[in-house]
Amino acid sequence: MGYLDGFRVTFKKLFEERLTRDYSKHNPDPDAKAPTALRRHGRHVLNRYEDGMEKCIGCELCAGVCPARCIYVRGADNPPDDPVSPGERYGYIYEINYLRCIHCDMCVEACPTEAITETKLFEFSFTSREDAIYTKAELVVGDDGKPRQLPWEDWSDIDRVAPMTSAWMRATAPSGDADFVGRVAWSGELGFGVKEPERGQSAEEGEVDTGEADAIFAHPGEPGGRAAHDPPPGSEGHRDAGGSA
Ligand code: SF4
Ligand code: SF4
Repeated sequence: MGYLDGFRVTFKKLFEERLTRDYSKHNPDPDAKAPTALRRHGRHVLNRYEDGMEKCIGCELCAGVCPARCIYVRGADNPPDDPVSPGERYGYIYEINYLRCIHCDMCVEACPTEAITETKLFEFSFTSREDAIYTKAELVVGDDGKPRQLPWEDWSDIDRVAPMTSAWMRATAPSGDADFVGRVAWSGELGFGVKEPERGQSAEEGEVDTGEADAIFAHPGEPGGRAAHDPPPGSEGHRDAGGSA
């Protein structure tokens, strides 16, 4: 009869407050989506140029570099009278298996044409393996340049996050070379045109929220607190409350 205890716990939980709605402690509205980090890696899209042509040229570099082996690409020659991409070839088949993707962004780094990028969408779940394998028809952006919205995806903030794609960060980063600071290295994109260059790593005073760090350093003698010059917990040289190194 012990298994009835399990049912009793489950039944009791049905009437308790659901904590998963309030998934951001910084969000005053528990029903609103949490602000998305600028560099978050989410669901991919296949981009198109401003004239509507697809950027993917079917080179398979993304599939070759993927550590999870979750991309399947097949290229084909462009029809001369109705080309799909500006190159000789285009991505004829394109699939990503989201049961395996670890969102490392290496496919984005490898792509020579900025065709594959990752959006900020991380709220998508499936009820079948077939749904987890996104096909080209689902990955290529629509005529407005925005990602297609599948029934199991939460795109309620699409207007805010759709223009933010990961490769834009890569393509406009100066990589330490001062000659390239502020220079746009991003080709035009359907719906969003040419984006402004990424801002530098430094921020103006007052633009950074230091509240969490301030709270840690405010009471160095209390549990979880430390002085600004102390090494962080877990690092070499850290001393715990008992004073051992
Ligand atoms: S993000 Fe990483 S794991 Fe996912 S498809 Fe790209 S290379 Fe593969
Ligand atoms: S997405 Fe980029 S890397 Fe992958 S096949 Fe297309 S052009 Fe090549």
